[in-house]
Parts: sequence; C-alpha cells; structure tokens
Amino acid sequence: MPEGDTVWRTAQHLDQALTGSVLQRSDFRVPALATVDLAGAAVQGTVSRGKHLLTRFSDPAVTLHTHLKMEGSWHLYRPGTRWRRPAHQARVVLVTETWTAVGFALGTVELVETATESDVLPDLGPDLLGPDWDEDEALRRLSASPDRPVGAALLDQRNLAGIGNLYKSELCFLVGANPWAPVAAVDLPRLVRRAKAVLEANKHRVEQTTTGDLRRGRQTWVYRRERQPCRRCGTPVRVAMADPDLASPSATSPSASSKGPVSERATYWCPTCQPR
Ligand SMILES: [Zn+2]
Repeated sequence: MPEGDTVWRTAQHLDQALTGSVLQRSDFRVPALATVDLAGAAVQGTVSRGKHLLTRFSDPAVTLHTHLKMEGSWHLYRPGTRWRRPAHQARVVLVTETWTAVGFALGTVELVETATESDVLPDLGPDLLGPDWDEDEALRRLSASPDRPVGAALLDQRNLAGIGNLYKSELCFLVGANPWAPVAAVDLPRLVRRAKAVLEANKHRVEQTTTGDLRRGRQTWVYRRERQPCRRCGTPVRVAMADPDLASPSATSPSASSKGPVSERATYWCPTCQPR
C-alpha cells in the first residue's frame, strides 16, 4: 500500500516530466475509457491529494484521476525504452515528445471535467503533504470518534490523508500507543506532528525510514519485523491480521511476512513498549 509520501513524489515526477507538453497519444486500457483519445491535449500539471493523483489537461479541460491502491505505480520512460512492468498491467499510457508515462495496476482510472474534479474525490481530511495542511482540523476530526482504535483512525483518510499501513504501525510505536487503544487515550498532537514529520522527511526519497536509518532491515521499528526483537526493549514484535477497527487483535499469523493484500492490512506492535 503506497503511503502518501510515495504518491506525493509520483505527482512531482509526473508534473516535472509532462507539464507544458502536448500529448501525442493516449491509451486508456480500462473499459469505460477505451475509446477516449486525448491526443492534442496540453498537460497542465499533476498534483496529489492525499493518496489520489490528479493530472490536468486543457483542450479539453479534463482531469485524469488515478489511485495507486495496493500495487499501482506510475513509470516514466524515454521513447523506445523497455517498460519495467508487464504491458498487460498498464492501465494508462500518456505519450509526449520526450516522455511516455505509464500507469500500471492502478486502482482507479477516471476522467472528469476539471471544473468538477473535486466531486470524484472522497471526503479527505487534511493532506499531510498538501499545501493546505491543517493540523487543528486533523486533530478535530480524529477526536470526533474518541472510542475508535487509534490505528484504524490513522488509516482513515477522512481524518487526515496520507497514512498507509507502514506509517500506521510505525507512528503508534513512535508515540508508545497500542494500535487498539482508543483515540481518547493517545497524545494526538504528538502523534499528528510525528506523522507530518516522517512523511516530510521521506517525501524526497524512494526509501522510507522511521528510525532515521536508511540501511536495509533497519528502516522500521516494528513494520514487517514480526517475531524480531523490539529495537528498544528486545520483546518480540507482534503482528495481527485483525480488522483494525475491531476492539482487539483476534489472530496472529506467520503468513503476514508474505507480500500481498492480506499482509498489507497487518498491524505490527511491541507488546511491551505499546501495552494495552
Ligand atoms: Zn519494545
């Protein structure tokens, strides 16, 4: 599950490569848009809103809304370069004179009039990496459901936008909060400021770290470290596959270390540093 910083950086790359160019060719490989041809449209820019991407065009004034969901990614290729993902995974291809942008395995692909683009976005809380980040509003929205488990509240993009599964587990560890603790029991200002800080710190680089260490295997405190000793206290890190909104973890599973959508819902925590 891409985190908000990954989506922000994707928007930056698409924006730098395509903005100001005219599309020579477009190819939408989703049924609803199969007949759409944007050749001749000028690219106005790409921005991120939480984990959503908006690529705007003029002539016609339309916005391409995409979402990476679990496995999606946008790649930029010079003309004639071999793609690094299978062509059958491509959902959108945008070709300019100097770049080919390919959106692979995108979870959402839709085209709307730019004037009404905000209508297609779900209700999003303040965007951690947006120009209009509003800490007070994020705190207000989080506090509105005081009994909700904090891990689930962090993932809910209506509270604040940009946190995925990695940062959910890491942020709970960083403030010593059990992921199933009610929101009311957590130091929310500290949590939200840490969230802003880690996304800001990681937004310019491919590797994500919450420990400050970029070396492989040292980048996280608990995420994907099940059964390994906690970096602070040595207690084996635990993982639960439970629905984050359940009151308590119902199961632990060694399969959480395998990649895939199921493991992407896993919650990792240290039972000593983050007691119930
Ligand atoms: Zn610990």
